Amino acid sequence: MSDEAGGEDSLAAVFRRLIANYGPISLQQYMGESNARYYSGKDPLGGAGDFVTAPEISQMFGELIGLWLTDIWMRAGAPATVHYVELGPGRGTLARDALRVMRKQGLSPEVHLVEGSGALRAEQRKAVPDAQWHADMDSLPTDGPLLLVGNEFLDALPVRQMVKTAAGWRERMVGLEGHRFVPVASDRPMDAAVPEAWLEASEQTLIETCPGAAAVIDEIARRLQGQGGAALLIDYGYAEKRTGSTLQAIRAHTKVDPFAHPGEADLTCLVDFATMAEVAVAGGARHLGTVTQGAFLRALGIETRAAQLCAVAPQQSSAINSDKDRLIDEGQMGQLFKVMGLAAQSWPNGAGF
Ligand code: SAH
Repeated sequence: MSDEAGGEDSLAAVFRRLIANYGPISLQQYMGESNARYYSGKDPLGGAGDFVTAPEISQMFGELIGLWLTDIWMRAGAPATVHYVELGPGRGTLARDALRVMRKQGLSPEVHLVEGSGALRAEQRKAVPDAQWHADMDSLPTDGPLLLVGNEFLDALPVRQMVKTAAGWRERMVGLEGHRFVPVASDRPMDAAVPEAWLEASEQTLIETCPGAAAVIDEIARRLQGQGGAALLIDYGYAEKRTGSTLQAIRAHTKVDPFAHPGEADLTCLVDFATMAEVAVAGGARHLGTVTQGAFLRALGIETRAAQLCAVAPQQSSAINSDKDRLIDEGQMGQLFKVMGLAAQSWPNGAGF
């Protein structure tokens, strides 16, 4: 809790100095700097960390993603030069499980991991020693189709929020009230930045956009169009457009105030899949569909895979089945998490959509 103690180097101290000297900072800057600090120094995944992701729950998740990629690659004519790309690979667990299945089926792509955190790169090197690392997508190869995956990547990218006030649309900023960070409306008019359909919205209406996620999807779409390939983006999010803030902070598996511990809790927002699909199509990709994680994993045969694993290790049956339920049950990850499939125009449809 270094920031509460007010350590000079804590991000909270940096933000306090910045706001005291220059006024409120944008929520986008607050969230971007917080997550950069959060991920740079530690591995937040798993039971002892702050949150657990699908690939860390069960090997079945990565295996089924690997099968999906293998299936679409085969039906695209099994091109020889092909690249597995993962955005924000965490501990490398999904990549390891997916690549094991892919290699068994005769698909041995080069492995490219896009990761900003030094601590997580070290973890990934243990799981996928033959990978190459990239700070962003710019340096990814251009000489063959991409088989791209991102699980819980887009939700970590910083959002911008606009709020309708009595005086018109304003950007939502982060200011100081005593020692505490609080959301405040900027005093600069922002009506010009808001789509026309929203101009007459009622007071307090809040809209959220994620320019970073849109930029990533645009880059994926352009590469699929230019190089061929397919992509799966998996995240918690919504398929229909909505209003309201979805910003949340998780620390030690518990929701906390997003403004209480900058840099020490994981800040995420729900992904706006409807807008992401529009951006992908505008960038030249084909939108294969967006479905719930539960429907996707069921369609790919998770029940059959769980039964196989239970037959091999009967004493672990109840753990295998409860992990499977965690991934697909509506009340757990099955409904809130969505899977969006994209492909090059010249590539076939994907399974499960
Ligand atoms: N996909 C993994 C980890 C999800 S956590 C899993 O499912 O377990 C988010 C991941 O995205 C981490 O690896 C984090 O370091 C990475 N990340 C977050 N913001 C990033 C950014 N701006 N650039 C590159 N990587 C980022």
